[in-house]
Amino acid sequence: MSEFDLIRNYFTWPASREDVTLGVGDDGALLRVPPGQELVVCVDTLAAGVHFPDETPADALGHKALAVNLSDLAAMGAEPAWATLALTLPAADEDWVGAFSEGFRSLAEEYGVALVGGDTTRGPLSITVQVMGFVPRGHALRRDGARPGDGIYVTGTLGDAALGLRHWTQRTTDGPHVHALLARLMRPVPQVAAGLALRGLAGAAIDLSDGLLADLGHVLDASGTGAAINLAQLPLSDAFRAVSGDAPDWSLPLSGGDDYELLFTLAPDMEARAREVLPVPFTRIGTIEASPGIRVTDGEGQPFSPSRSGYRHFN
Ligand code: ADP
Ligand code: MG
Repeated sequence: MSEFDLIRNYFTWPASREDVTLGVGDDGALLRVPPGQELVVCVDTLAAGVHFPDETPADALGHKALAVNLSDLAAMGAEPAWATLALTLPAADEDWVGAFSEGFRSLAEEYGVALVGGDTTRGPLSITVQVMGFVPRGHALRRDGARPGDGIYVTGTLGDAALGLRHWTQRTTDGPHVHALLARLMRPVPQVAAGLALRGLAGAAIDLSDGLLADLGHVLDASGTGAAINLAQLPLSDAFRAVSGDAPDWSLPLSGGDDYELLFTLAPDMEARAREVLPVPFTRIGTIEASPGIRVTDGEGQPFSPSRSGYRHFN
């Protein structure tokens, strides 16, 4: 099967958006940004063996390649619109490409995203997705808006994907709780609706892809602030608690990647409004402070040193 057949069979589907003048099939796509909106552009690559285990199912990869990008749009407060897909494949394996395309397409349709172009080449498996979305001019959520006294919040729960990955790697994947954790790893849910609801409310926002301490660190760097967070307030799922037993490995929610939740800050008078408008549960985990660095305390208020080192932002 030629690259042209692959594109026609698996990456061309009827245009779903009126703002696509010309999609897959020409030398470039023609797209219309609504007046008064800024275009938000994000790109992320998943490389085999680096960003996902080799045996990851193809439909999960199709889902995840788009989901991680939608998560970036969510963190900007943007409404998703279009995507491009650059795919490097070791072989034209139709079963694999069909499953990949299905995983990608079903998530794209769920979020109203049109696939408007891409590139298909042969080589070691690598998937690059670019997404584009809109935000009203001047209203994007950015990393640099955290101020001392703001609360620090996260949507959902932390550490599930990292614990799932540990079990996947160790091949101990039996039981409903581990399956729930693996679903978080393989099929992350981008927090697009939460990002939209946070426009005009959040001071700063970022999506959690590299782990809480690392990503919170980016917000603190951009904002010129520090933070205090408390382990006892970190939201853990029932599955995480059940699989972890009495002594959770705190490095998972603190430093494990692939959560794809949103972290955001709210000025003290904004929390009540956020409780009204956010469509998902969220939890306060700490407070922005003037002094640089991240101070972590445990349930008794004692200083806690994460066992994994290497994060520049930890004092
Ligand atoms: P060109 O040689 O002009 O770059 P290509 O032959 O690479 O064009 O691609 C033909 C058309 O198919 C283009 O519109 C391109 O955007 C689209 N395309 C190629 N690969 C993909 C893909 N994996 N997913 C979606 N569209 C693709
Ligand atoms: Mg090309």
